[in-house]
Amino acid sequence: MSSTPVRTRFAPSPTGFIHLGNIRSALYPWAYARHHGGQFILRIEDTDVERSTQAAVDVILQSMQWMGLDYDEGPIYQMQRMQRYRQVLRELLDSGHAYPCYMSSAELDALRERQMAAGLKPRYDGTWRPQPGKRLPPPPAGVQPVLRFRTPEEGAVSWNDRVKGLVRVDNSELDDLVIARPDGTPTYNFCVVVDDIDMRISHVIRGDDHVNNTPRQIHIFRALGCEPPVYAHLPTVLNEQGDKLSKRNGAKSVLDYRDEGYLADALLNYLARLGWSHGDDEVFGREQFVRWFDLEHLGRSAAQFDGEKLRWLNAQYLRALAPQQLAAQLRPFLQRLGLREQAVDLERAAVLLRERASTLLELAEQCAMFYTEPQADAAARQGLVGEPVGQALHALQQRLAALPEWDAPSISGAIKQVLGEHRLKMPQLAMPLRQLVTGRTQTPSVDAVLALFPRQTVLDRLRRGLG
Ligand code: GLU
Repeated sequence: MSSTPVRTRFAPSPTGFIHLGNIRSALYPWAYARHHGGQFILRIEDTDVERSTQAAVDVILQSMQWMGLDYDEGPIYQMQRMQRYRQVLRELLDSGHAYPCYMSSAELDALRERQMAAGLKPRYDGTWRPQPGKRLPPPPAGVQPVLRFRTPEEGAVSWNDRVKGLVRVDNSELDDLVIARPDGTPTYNFCVVVDDIDMRISHVIRGDDHVNNTPRQIHIFRALGCEPPVYAHLPTVLNEQGDKLSKRNGAKSVLDYRDEGYLADALLNYLARLGWSHGDDEVFGREQFVRWFDLEHLGRSAAQFDGEKLRWLNAQYLRALAPQQLAAQLRPFLQRLGLREQAVDLERAAVLLRERASTLLELAEQCAMFYTEPQADAAARQGLVGEPVGQALHALQQRLAALPEWDAPSISGAIKQVLGEHRLKMPQLAMPLRQLVTGRTQTPSVDAVLALFPRQTVLDRLRRGLG
């Protein structure tokens, strides 16, 4: 047992965007493979040609790259494996595990109606299923059959799900699944099994919307002479209103979080905790997560997304970044806001202002004060520069111009002297000063903020503000 190498996969269908619940289904198998020194494989399930798009594939690839979920094999596209599926379909036909069924869709509909009218669960009735001693109807001319998988009639199928525990389904609940359409193209559950076999997947960690497929998939594994992998079906992720995450009810895509200035490590940490736990630990890095991750501590009930918690976590990560990295991550956001870098020490500015920001975008917005002229309206200015504050600001302007050093302690010294001379209290001077130079009513301490500006910018803004 223990010698089986761990091989996991993420198998998204490129039919839409990819929300946090989807990427969590990549994160856990990734972490499991990394924890065990195994392999993680990316498989693109693109057989729904009508709905699959290259744009959706690109979003998957970008999301994984941004999150740092690297894969050892892939992306493997199911559409490029058609030959192989046809070959395995042939094997199943030859071994008697599959058979052609000529029932038309009109006949199927009629069958379903009869069953519903009789209060029965609709299911295929086995008309074309070969049985010893049974005479099949002659195949209708010119009709291309579907292929159905011959599900055992007796007994049950069960597996020990690492999240849900023992799951057992009576075979009488399952009818004979269509595994190839009339044009010969294979269907979803069949392709998944062929791929999981060929890719030697040891652990299938996926959303629990696939629990119903699992008994059918296990039967196909066995028909192909293989043992199914270990399954762990992850409970759904709900939005803040308690509904299933989906684009329709406003779920955001992973890349939206990137664009709003969340850090990939913070999002990873958040998702790690959304459905798995390690005691009470809330903040842990990627390597720590990989070291700790196991299937034993996966949550058993649906996890609920909490935007405030994610913001809080992101703020923790912002504060922990080294100044150089912080500035590097911030620059693209400044550019997006149209702020062209000036003679500002961005590292120091970002370190000071990050105390008040939860995302890189918010931090960039705060940094805007260094790049754009303050927009104080005339009335506010009037109020600010009234006596005796106006005189004090003029005096301060002169002192600032004459300071031998341009740093926070010197600026603070100048402010204190002016306060003393003009008999003002700190807020009386600091507020208008802050507003004239930064255009904001709230910033970290004004001397520290001013010190980040080039001195000439401060003097210019004060001069313009004082009119
Ligand atoms: N393609 C499936 C989906 O996107 C996943 C299949 C699987 O993980 O087995 O839901």
